[in-house]
Amino acid sequence: MRCPRCGYSESKVTDTRSVNGMSSIRRKRLCLGCGYRFFTNEVVCEEFPIVIKRDGREEEFDKEKVKNGLLKAFKKSTGVEKKVDYIYNGVIGSIVSGHPEKIKAEEIGTIIMDLLRASDPVAYMRFVSVYKNFESAGDFAFEFEKMSSWKPKN
Ligand SMILES: [Zn+2]
Repeated sequence: MRCPRCGYSESKVTDTRSVNGMSSIRRKRLCLGCGYRFFTNEVVCEEFPIVIKRDGREEEFDKEKVKNGLLKAFKKSTGVEKKVDYIYNGVIGSIVSGHPEKIKAEEIGTIIMDLLRASDPVAYMRFVSVYKNFESAGDFAFEFEKMSSWKPKN
């Protein structure tokens, strides 16, 4: 990262903050050549682990499945977008940092349930009551998509 003023290639990061949730990081840098302060914006390139399904097959991680599963768990509740984003970022962060190469599909389910339980008991119950009923828990998100007409029992 060259200094825009003197072109020196060494700089020190003096502050880091994320913008737009977790997708972009802004760094404040100090040029070690001339002392000029400047900002850099870095976009996080997400690299996801391979998902190992219950039957042993491997597939690409599909973050849309996670998002769709969450959207259904939070169905009709107020401020749903915000809640889903919050959990979603937590889930993705936990998956990427804790499982850099491979992750079992059911572990994804566990991560989602843990975060849901901590933040929204109603969505958690909704998620669990669907998730637990499927033998192939690994395909929870796919099954979730078929459950669009599912309604909780009172
Ligand atoms: Zn400089």
